[in-house]
Amino acid sequence: MDRTEKICDIIEGSSYVVFLGGAGVSTESGIPDFRSKNGLYHKKKKRFASYEPEYLLSSECLRKKPEVFFEYYRENLDARAVEPNDAHRALAAMEHAGRLAGIITQNIDGLHQKAGSRNVQEIHGTIWTNHCVSCGREYDSDFIFDSREEVPHCLDCGRTVRPDVTLYGELLPDEAYDRSIRMIQKADCLIIGGTSLEVGSAAQLAHMYHGRSFIIINKTKTKLEGKADIVVHDSIAKVLKSVTELMGIWQDDDT
Ligand code: NAD
Ligand code: ZN
Repeated sequence: MDRTEKICDIIEGSSYVVFLGGAGVSTESGIPDFRSKNGLYHKKKKRFASYEPEYLLSSECLRKKPEVFFEYYRENLDARAVEPNDAHRALAAMEHAGRLAGIITQNIDGLHQKAGSRNVQEIHGTIWTNHCVSCGREYDSDFIFDSREEVPHCLDCGRTVRPDVTLYGELLPDEAYDRSIRMIQKADCLIIGGTSLEVGSAAQLAHMYHGRSFIIINKTKTKLEGKADIVVHDSIAKVLKSVTELMGIWQDDDT
């Protein structure tokens, strides 16, 4: 049995499959991750060279140096025109076929929903909505990305409008995290993919998993490999596409 057949076998023999993913799921759509060779952490422009990468996406930076925060945010996190790749499509196909209970993602790009996935828990929030830090008025993603102001301001109260993204130094969105915990506890198959598991929240969720089967699909080595039944070091889009093809649920674009 090759690795694709083994993964199919496990998924088809499970009743509650959960996928936990990160930035690596979206690299094949052209969005850089953080820690790979071409990741955001390694290609900082001179303008931002004096800041730690974590600082540029922190609540402290938003508070103390909002101009820097918004410049970095607009330059690096505008995923409005980005399209899902085969990894997103395969996961959506699995959910539609009743083979996947849901997705827990650290990504903030909304590409799973664009591909048609419905049960998506965004534990680090989303770039697709914004809100005023004072009155709470909600704004769409264009409000920050297309704003001519260095620091976008609320039309009602004049305070800063910020993205609904969880920044370093902030608590995770309760609801999404609680739902994720329940999904992990219920799962009998966990697939982890495209994440270094370096960010605490995702690693904690992974440690809470005590179900039967555990699959890791990631280009590079990650910490939990000793616990996994199958580890694949390859492109997540390629692997998930071949899994769904073998399951007979892959949908070509033009169908
Ligand atoms: P990370 O950069 O720490 O790790 C990404 C992992 O994915 C690496 O181990 C890498 O080897 C692997 N990878 C990259 N491309 C891959 C591919 N095509 N197939 C398989 N594996 C691949 O990312 P992380 O663990 O998600 O943590 C970074 C944090 O940054 C997260 O909290 C996330 O919110 C945020 N982030 C989000 C986006 C996004 O929304 N697309 C992009 C960058 C960072
Ligand atoms: Zn306001």
